[in-house]
Amino acid sequence: MSQLYIYNTLSRTKEVFAPINPPFVGMYVCGPTVYNDVHLGNCRTFVSFDLIYRYLLFSGYKVRYVRNITDAGHLEGDRDEGDDKFTKRARLEQLEPMEIVQKYTLGFHDVMKVLNTLPPSIEPTATGHICEQLEMIKTILEAGYAYIVNGSVYFDVERFSSVFDYGALTNRKREELFENTRELHGQDEKRGRLDFALWIKAKPETLMQWPSPWGWGFPGWHIECSAMSKKYLGETFDIHGGGMDLQATHHTNEIAQSKACCKDEPVKYWMHTNMLTVNGTRMSKSAGNGFLPQELFSGTHALLEKAYHPMTVRFFMLQTHYRSTLDFSNDALQASEKGLQRLWNAVNALSKIKPGKQHHNSIDQLDTMCKAAMNDDFNSPVLIATLFEHTALINAAAEGKAELSQDNLNTLKHVYNQYMVEVLGLTPQALKTEYSRALQSAMNLLLQIRTDAKTQRHFELSDHIRKNLEAGGIRIQDHKDGSTWDVM
Ligand code: AMP
Ligand code: ZN
Repeated sequence: MSQLYIYNTLSRTKEVFAPINPPFVGMYVCGPTVYNDVHLGNCRTFVSFDLIYRYLLFSGYKVRYVRNITDAGHLEGDRDEGDDKFTKRARLEQLEPMEIVQKYTLGFHDVMKVLNTLPPSIEPTATGHICEQLEMIKTILEAGYAYIVNGSVYFDVERFSSVFDYGALTNRKREELFENTRELHGQDEKRGRLDFALWIKAKPETLMQWPSPWGWGFPGWHIECSAMSKKYLGETFDIHGGGMDLQATHHTNEIAQSKACCKDEPVKYWMHTNMLTVNGTRMSKSAGNGFLPQELFSGTHALLEKAYHPMTVRFFMLQTHYRSTLDFSNDALQASEKGLQRLWNAVNALSKIKPGKQHHNSIDQLDTMCKAAMNDDFNSPVLIATLFEHTALINAAAEGKAELSQDNLNTLKHVYNQYMVEVLGLTPQALKTEYSRALQSAMNLLLQIRTDAKTQRHFELSDHIRKNLEAGGIRIQDHKDGSTWDVM
């Protein structure tokens, strides 16, 4: 295995990746809160970790990738008061909270699949791990780092700070962290401004609540990740990731909970993805500037000039390093569409070029250069630039204006296939080849047969066609003036 460098948020340096128990790697990524649709910003974080997961697998590691689903607790803001997000949404949509959870989990999975992300090894839910969370809270209480007030349990940051460095992940002193919190008032149950809820007492009308030693309630948001990462990856594991917005509170509190419970540093490498922005402002559910991935794929968003293929969107994300901000724009998407097409055209041309006599030594270095880019903290933009460097030569060879030796052709085919498909996770769906033209004409024929069947009221046949295509990953949608198809 070649030497891989990972930027560790905790040490603020690039470190040589040395897993605790090689070749096994434990990786935990904070997943979505499934009370509404994921937006493109969320997708950026999950696509970034998909790249990281793919490259670790590609490098020969055996990765246990845990990405949770937050389906309980999680209040708005830092007040630890009021209804949880699921109860609120269930009231709004007049559904059971678990119907909300199911609906948005399925939607999330669909989007992840369309963006060609690999499923995690384990996808645990907060509601499925209430016992583990209760056990952890009890241990924290026994260790003296939490206190009970009126059926709720709070983490005592003051006490924790007397033993450990609470602000280590953001390199901030406790006083600086104070600045971002509000003053406590007489009615507050918390003793300290930085204290946070481990368990929250439920009101009678709270829809999701569980019994605990302190009465009926529900878990605070942070405890689920500490409890589930410990259960599936152990008290100390290799990589923990999430978006940068989680660093100051959610991950800082996760570290505090795990240390209060188990003493040791829970995570060796903390990794944080930077934000997807729109006109420089972070895309977020609360800011109301969220694009739904489906709006991009269908081109229905008011700010979009056209629809973009999911692979264009994935490529657009990977063209920027995961630690840099990525600003969303029509122009950038169009450039990505063109760029990706250029790469696929080169791949396509490679299969048609006849070997010549001339050998290019620079191509012998291609694999090493691609690895070097990815080994430098998963630098996908440098990898993509390296792949672009050879497209002009490939095109020239395809037009008979240059030569490539058999060895050159073998290397190029091998490297492009490995890095485009396995590492970057791009599928050649966007390619306008003879294959997609042939598929289109076959689909036109099938849709015509289905329309005729419906006109003649042969609904069994029309359903049969739709269901079988669906089983093969092709979705049919019926409209007033005909049917369309796309790949699910
Ligand atoms: P949430 O469902 O809000 O808990 O977010 C799920 C994941 O998406 C978390 O890892 C967040 O840090 C991440 N995230 C949220 N907004 C953005 C954004 N604008 N850009 C990139 N990642 C984001
Ligand atoms: Zn988390």
